[in-house]
Amino acid sequence: YSEAKFKRETWHNYWKTYILPKVESQIHLNTMVTRIEYDSESGQQTKVTLHTCDGRAFVGNKVILAVPLIVLQEGDIRFVPSLPETNRRALSGGKMAPALKVFIEFSERFYPDLQLPRGLTKTMMVDGVELFYDAAYGKDTRHNVLGYVAVADPAKQYKHMASDDDIFQSVMEKLDKMFDGKPSRTYIKHRVMHWTRVQHIRGGYSFYGVDSPRQARKPVANTIYFAGEYLGGEETSTVHGAALTGRAAVEAICSS
Ligand SMILES: Cc1cc2nc3c(=O)[nH]c(=O)nc-3n(C[C@H](O)[C@H](O)[C@H](O)COP(=O)(O)OP(=O)(O)OC[C@H]3O[C@@H](n4cnc5c(N)ncnc54)[C@H](O)[C@@H]3O)c2cc1C
Repeated sequence: YSEAKFKRETWHNYWKTYILPKVESQIHLNTMVTRIEYDSESGQQTKVTLHTCDGRAFVGNKVILAVPLIVLQEGDIRFVPSLPETNRRALSGGKMAPALKVFIEFSERFYPDLQLPRGLTKTMMVDGVELFYDAAYGKDTRHNVLGYVAVADPAKQYKHMASDDDIFQSVMEKLDKMFDGKPSRTYIKHRVMHWTRVQHIRGGYSFYGVDSPRQARKPVANTIYFAGEYLGGEETSTVHGAALTGRAAVEAICSS
């Protein structure tokens, strides 16, 4: 196997190069939408108003909601009028999984390409993912960077840890046990990314998506459209799955 996609880059560079330049002037950072008002019987002439946390209002004809599933489920955004019961039921039929990643740089590469702390059988059977992997595999670098990822059930063991430091210590303990203390002796630096704690994300991805993506992505009043990884069907949980649902929403608007 080989790393064919990214050498010195990630999806972030792809976004910066191909998408951001076209939309940058339209982006409002740190501007959470708190209320969406729409006309449930507007026919062809639709109107929607998005109210944001800083007191501004954005008015348009259509909106594509690409927020994480949990944001819709936990009511961060108030809809006026409420979303129809069929949409609410469809959106409630999925679950955002907790997730975190830890990257650790070492002075030596003492680890294999891939290490499954729960063993192969349990890793395949368990409701989630937990693995160590060579994060610099196939990359154009001399740095030895080990990645650790835990999603869904395996991520729950970190739920009650107070800080990123506690998470890092716990991961290092696992590693020291596996590699006879070498990790602590060759440690250089680390970074923890705990998405479950990020206020407007609150998890990794929906893992299995919603039960009925077709129902959940149904536009409301010809005005509110939905997109996001949780609607991706077979591509659920992925960046490209999320992107495809965005394109589908735009196509639906253009042909409405
Ligand atoms: C550990 C881990 C590993 C992964 N590995 C891969 C991988 O290898 N390959 C892959 O393809 N995918 C991977 N993914 C999954 C991928 O990152 C996600 O599926 C994808 O980013 C989801 O995109 P999205 O646009 O649906 O949601 P997000 O990227 O979560 O975007 C939603 C946006 O909505 C914003 N938002 C929330 N609330 C509001 C509000 N009220 N008002 C305005 N904005 C709001 C959020 O701030 C956020 O910017 C991984 C994820 C994790 C956690």
